[in-house]
Amino acid sequence: MTTSGNSLPTRGYAATSASTPLAPFAFDRRVPGDRDVHITIDFCGICHSDIHFTRNEWGMTTYPAVPGHEIIGRVVKTGKDVKRFREGQRVGVGCFVNSCGKCPSCKSGHENYCEVGGPIMTYASLEPDGVTPTFGGYSRDIVVNEHFVLSIPEGLDPAGAAPLLCAGITTYSPLREVGLTKGSRVGVMGLGGLGHMAVKLAASFGAEVTVFSRSPEKEADARRLGAHDFVLTNNPAALEAVAGRYDAILDTISARHDLSPSLNALKPHGTLILVGASPEGVEFNPFPLLFGGRRIVGSLVGGIPETQEMLEHCGKHGITSDIEMVRPDQINEAFERTVRGDVKYRFVIDCTKF
Ligand code: NAP
Ligand code: ZN
Ligand code: ZN
Repeated sequence: MTTSGNSLPTRGYAATSASTPLAPFAFDRRVPGDRDVHITIDFCGICHSDIHFTRNEWGMTTYPAVPGHEIIGRVVKTGKDVKRFREGQRVGVGCFVNSCGKCPSCKSGHENYCEVGGPIMTYASLEPDGVTPTFGGYSRDIVVNEHFVLSIPEGLDPAGAAPLLCAGITTYSPLREVGLTKGSRVGVMGLGGLGHMAVKLAASFGAEVTVFSRSPEKEADARRLGAHDFVLTNNPAALEAVAGRYDAILDTISARHDLSPSLNALKPHGTLILVGASPEGVEFNPFPLLFGGRRIVGSLVGGIPETQEMLEHCGKHGITSDIEMVRPDQINEAFERTVRGDVKYRFVIDCTKF
């Protein structure tokens, strides 16, 4: 792309309303400032959050909406004050592209919990000017402040590494936070994009992993991905058999459901980690929470230093996502298939085709 005046033209896919399919969309990025990195995007994963957002299921979408926050590309150009990146380098961008940089959360590397209006999300936010909407990674180019750009270890397949930028860090961060170690017993609820990364990562920490799923046909995959056990969530006897067993359960379910069976499956003082963002909320019975002093915690992606740490961990252990590659004109079908649970286990868009 060549710049023209104060803008950098690019192209991607956008939705223009909650009910219209995504379609080709031409728009402008800003011309890189002194601390910005201009990245040509090669691959972008399709996260279920992209679907919630595009369809306005969280009630906060403005249109046109360009989703996408699992971005892998190469540096085209850097601003004059950029220190950490050079032209041609393999880089990634995740769920947020700026934050205040001054609050206690930002200063401690938890930009994801920025206390001054929250971080500026890669999409679904306004740029620092307070007017321009942010547009995500279903596009060919993006311009990002270098602090929010991640370096991708050599040797990781770049398409398979794209989902690490959201599904990877969203599961890595809370699994680390609850102190999973060798021999910990952990459950993963829902074997989708986040769930399959959680299995791989928890297994790489030496934990004993159980997948909880409504889909019996996923059992063989669960075991191949590193799970030691598989529990069908629509089988009450199977759930009862694992009561009181787990140190932690990571719940990735994208729709309304009852948390009580997971709470019941935790040891005393065990932790249910909620990362699924069900637009209709969730429900639970307080008794399994009270008896046993169990805990429910939430988690939103992870900070920049932890995301880089996760990428290095994946580089060292050869961990990437199991992906199905799609062209831009297959995005709408990929959305439908993701909602149906018909994906193994993340769609990734070939952004060179935009
Ligand atoms: P996904 O690939 O669609 O996986 C979700 C899985 O949940 C499905 O594979 C299915 O697993 C299970 N599931 C779906 N609908 C269900 C239902 N009605 N009842 C029971 N189980 C159901 O989605 P994803 O990309 O992993 O994202 C999962 C959720 O996390 C979404 O809500 C997304 O917005 C959210 N998210 C949150 C963060 C964060 O920072 N907290 C980051 C990324 C995404 P089984 O077939 O195995 O049961
Ligand atoms: Zn996501
Ligand atoms: Zn902040």
